[in-house]
Amino acid sequence: MPPPGTFFRPFLRRATQRANVMGTTQVAVAAAVAGIGAYAWYLRSNNTKSEKPIFSSFGFHSLRLDSTELINHNTKKLRFALPDASKPSGLGLTSAVLTVAFPNGRWFPVIRPYTPTNDLNEPGYIELLIKLYPHGKQSTHLHSLQPGDTLTMAPIKELAWTPNQHSHVALIAGGAGITPMYQLARGILHNPSDRTRVTLVWGVNRDEDVFLGEEFAEMERKFPGRFRAVYVVAEPEVGSSHRKGFVTREVLEGVGLGAREDGNKDVKVLVCGPPAMEKALKRKGSGVLAELGYRPDQVYSF
Ligand SMILES: Cc1cc2nc3c(=O)[nH]c(=O)nc-3n(C[C@H](O)[C@H](O)[C@H](O)COP(=O)(O)OP(=O)(O)OC[C@H]3O[C@@H](n4cnc5c(N)ncnc54)[C@H](O)[C@@H]3O)c2cc1C
Repeated sequence: MPPPGTFFRPFLRRATQRANVMGTTQVAVAAAVAGIGAYAWYLRSNNTKSEKPIFSSFGFHSLRLDSTELINHNTKKLRFALPDASKPSGLGLTSAVLTVAFPNGRWFPVIRPYTPTNDLNEPGYIELLIKLYPHGKQSTHLHSLQPGDTLTMAPIKELAWTPNQHSHVALIAGGAGITPMYQLARGILHNPSDRTRVTLVWGVNRDEDVFLGEEFAEMERKFPGRFRAVYVVAEPEVGSSHRKGFVTREVLEGVGLGAREDGNKDVKVLVCGPPAMEKALKRKGSGVLAELGYRPDQVYSF
């Protein structure tokens, strides 16, 4: 557990360092940022008195980076230790963590969400898979972290998943948008009382962008008829085992994801990808999902 005020201190330090040279607006902004930090710290200190897992309620915490592992050409796995090694994080399906950092001594915090991909019931740690975007503020910072460094984060809830509410869930991901899908697919399949069928369609640029391939293959082996993973690659290598192209209406129909098909009346479609992909899928009236017959209430975007 970091010493009290760890989260609050960078805000204060920056505010006081610059107070002499700032105008009234800047002082007001710094005060507002410090106020948010104070509130976060208040929540955090309340939270630490609890016996509950660290992320079972909202609050910022600084977690220590335990280890890093490069898992493909641009994605790193970062494993963070929880303060209590005997407890899980308290994150549920589906949730993410809101990370806060000051890369390269920035004045204002950079705040980005990331989705833990470890088994959420495992005690003692969380893992994040971070794709590096060239010049990306937070992803470059996270890729530069070394074991022993800390990262401030708070839990955020995404879609509240209810087992068996839908007979079938379609997970459509683009690039690093795969992480919420992986968390949910694994959570559904590993819950013995959840019978939901899961179809994953993942669009990437090149074969080398695929990761978690072994994990998805294992799910297909363990849950035949309930889980299927389909990869769509924009520029596949010669001899690639994946489909070529983008996530289109034809691709989704081809894997049995037409809304009008038998057994698909209550399909829930979850989407997480880059803005261009989300737009093509969800455009009102003429988007791929509308053309397939999905109602807006059947579609959720992370
Ligand atoms: C709920 C949720 C969960 C997420 N989980 C993960 C996760 O587990 N792992 C992960 O790596 N990312 C995840 N993301 C994306 C992450 O939050 C950041 O958007 C991403 O790391 C880029 O931030 P950055 O500060 O490095 O880039 P920025 O400085 O914001 O942007 C740099 C450049 O990258 C481009 N860019 C930024 N984000 C994307 C994107 N998503 N797709 C394509 N181009 C982009 C921008 O257009 C810009 O040109 C998640 C996003 C959401 C909303």
